[in-house]
Amino acid sequence: MTLNKKPHIVVIGAGLGGLSAAISLATEGFSVDLLEKNDKVGGKLNILEKDGFTFDLGPSILTMPHIFKALFDRAGINMDDYVSIQTVEPHWRNFFEDGSTLDLSSDPEIMQQELLKLGPNTPKEFARFLAYSKKLCEVTEDGYFAQGLDSFWELLKYYGPVKSLQEFDVFRSMDQGVKRFIKDPKLVDVLNYFIKYVGSSPYDAPALMNLLPYIQFGYGLWYVKGGMYGMAQGLEKLALELGVNIQVNVEVKEIQHEAGYASAVRLADGSVLKADIVVSNMELIPAYKELMSGQEKEIKRIEKYAPSCSGLVLHLGVDRIYAQLAHHNFFYSDHPREHFKAIFHEHKLSEDPTIYLVAPCKSDPAQAPEGCEIIKILPHIPHLDPNKPLTAEDYADLRERVLIKLERMGLTDLRKHIVSEESWTPVDIQAKYYSNQGSIYGVVADRFKNLGFKNAQRSGVLKNLYFVGGSVNPGGGMPMVTLSGQLVRDKILADLSKQ
Ligand SMILES: Cc1cc2nc3c(=O)[nH]c(=O)nc-3n(C[C@H](O)[C@H](O)[C@H](O)COP(=O)(O)OP(=O)(O)OC[C@H]3O[C@@H](n4cnc5c(N)ncnc54)[C@H](O)[C@@H]3O)c2cc1C
Repeated sequence: MTLNKKPHIVVIGAGLGGLSAAISLATEGFSVDLLEKNDKVGGKLNILEKDGFTFDLGPSILTMPHIFKALFDRAGINMDDYVSIQTVEPHWRNFFEDGSTLDLSSDPEIMQQELLKLGPNTPKEFARFLAYSKKLCEVTEDGYFAQGLDSFWELLKYYGPVKSLQEFDVFRSMDQGVKRFIKDPKLVDVLNYFIKYVGSSPYDAPALMNLLPYIQFGYGLWYVKGGMYGMAQGLEKLALELGVNIQVNVEVKEIQHEAGYASAVRLADGSVLKADIVVSNMELIPAYKELMSGQEKEIKRIEKYAPSCSGLVLHLGVDRIYAQLAHHNFFYSDHPREHFKAIFHEHKLSEDPTIYLVAPCKSDPAQAPEGCEIIKILPHIPHLDPNKPLTAEDYADLRERVLIKLERMGLTDLRKHIVSEESWTPVDIQAKYYSNQGSIYGVVADRFKNLGFKNAQRSGVLKNLYFVGGSVNPGGGMPMVTLSGQLVRDKILADLSKQ
């Protein structure tokens, strides 16, 4: 196939990965159609206004804002004119069953005082851990992120075998990496729980994932003023100004192809849209299953890129204020191993889950009516598994267990104060975003399954088909999927320059 100088690109899906790809490619002068099946852009970065509350349905923590800024910078635009962000303090408040709490803060003085609560040596241990985390982060940024390295072999070639094995700490689990430095079991649990950013288990994920604390401490923890959805709106505005043709309520049903190249997409209304290049923000495995036939061999090859966990997402509007909460809170399980084993090995609901609770009104009271606040609760739970199906009753039982645990741990009468509720199970998440088995972060990071890698962005099936988002490198979470959109631009430009 001969490509025009500036080929026409169709992007399937307007999640952050698709938006970032569309913006990055339009900035280079490509004509881009961005097709989204839902009624608005943003994908899992989603919003719902109900009963006077504004619920951010997806992400609540923004990290690495420079990755978002890079989209605006390259287009010659100041991000501050489109999206306003603010830092959040403390980063997290951690609650334990014995009634103690521990704040994580970007302020070294406060952090020192908090760590001293755990013993005189803890600040030193933490400082050594953070230096290790920083090193992991720097080595990853240098090649994997900046160069868009897309396989273990590319990594070996770029870094050399010794650096790859030693500096990425490949033989340890995340938990083992934490325990090299930290003795206090509570702090071990807290640092292990940074795995929440990628929906995996610290006992299975490679120690490389210990880069996550440095990402938070080094680059800060941010909130988008007026609600997280503001990031999707800012990116949508930028995309439109760059000439991206965004169409919502448009579902792609098929990627058509000839002689090993994608040639068009067929839409739900039967119409066909020609394309020189296709970028899919639909996850890899669902795309091969639903949009192309005969891909069983490729699907088998990429099975190791299994889904991350899902979540039971409870958005509660309550008619009182819980003063003890910070913006971000974690209520720990006394049995973390059992909790992660239940999710990732037994595919059942944890009896005693660690609970992530977001109270966004602490930074942004306007999200709820006066005297009220939002309590968003997100215990991680297994992705959908046809061999171990969970029922609506199972999810309802977990909801009750979680609310009772929170009441026991200080949120007095929580259930009595609920005046509005919106609950999402993995079934809803799968149906809304077509994620693989209801996963919320794309691919699980598991050193035995995939060394923490995701599939390559270039399709192994069609030469001009590429993927962005949580199912491909560099992985899930807001900043990573946004980076994937920028890296796909680089790959497309490199591939075109060879033709
Ligand atoms: C409850 C929750 C909490 C989270 N918390 C955080 C957090 O605090 N911080 C963080 O960084 N990350 C968080 N995440 C993860 C983060 O939201 C995701 O990693 C990221 O938004 C995924 O972006 P994406 O572009 O890969 O995919 P998606 O957002 O899923 O976008 C894919 C888009 O493609 C569309 N699509 C799929 N198939 C088709 C088709 N055939 N035709 C047309 N359109 C199609 C979908 O409708 C969707 O809009 C959270 C996620 C959830 C659900």
